Amino acid sequence: MKLVLATGNAGKVRELAAQLGSCGVEVVAQSEYLSVEAIEDGLSFVENALIKARHAARASGLAAVADDSGLRVDALDGAPGVHSARYAGAAANDRSNCLKLLSALEGVPKASRGAAFHCSLVFVRHALDPAPLIVSAEWRGSVLTALQGDNGFGYDPLFQPEGLTGSAAELEPAEKQRVSHRALALHRFMPQLKALVSG
Ligand code: IMP
Repeated sequence: MKLVLATGNAGKVRELAAQLGSCGVEVVAQSEYLSVEAIEDGLSFVENALIKARHAARASGLAAVADDSGLRVDALDGAPGVHSARYAGAAANDRSNCLKLLSALEGVPKASRGAAFHCSLVFVRHALDPAPLIVSAEWRGSVLTALQGDNGFGYDPLFQPEGLTGSAAELEPAEKQRVSHRALALHRFMPQLKALVSG
């Protein structure tokens, strides 16, 4: 089976392609088929992952896998959520997003700074698949009061995973790949995908 990976992020392509390859599926990058990116206007991570997967499946005529992720902060009613990438505006970058989050949580005590990274992974057999495989996972933690660490990306310097003393940006990359929201979701997604593609 050949399937298209609905992400333009080179890091995700590498990570997911390696896992998917082990299921015996041939993985193709969406850049081979897409000229226009999907408009991610869903209200949830699942909706956005489905929008991306269906878009890539439509353009390629192949089955597709997509993911969507972000940070949900309890004290902000789940924000930045699906808007994580552009929380600080259209020209946002990792640093401006983190600074905006720090100011949104100014004065919020440690006990109320709970948050979670969320990841949804979906698989569609074709663009109109009425029964997609959908798996979601969360990595719980809290938001620090200052940036810490240089590894990772996005909100990692502000995210203290549950059970750890430092931030996600202080984890070795291999360690983060073992325990993150993406790792948790992939761990449950892969056996189900394997069953679907071999059955
Ligand atoms: P996407 O899944 O690439 O659309 O991710 C959306 C945004 O969520 C990213 O731009 C980051 O700001 C944030 N995000 C998702 N996963 C992580 C992570 O593992 N660490 C830090 N930030 C993340």
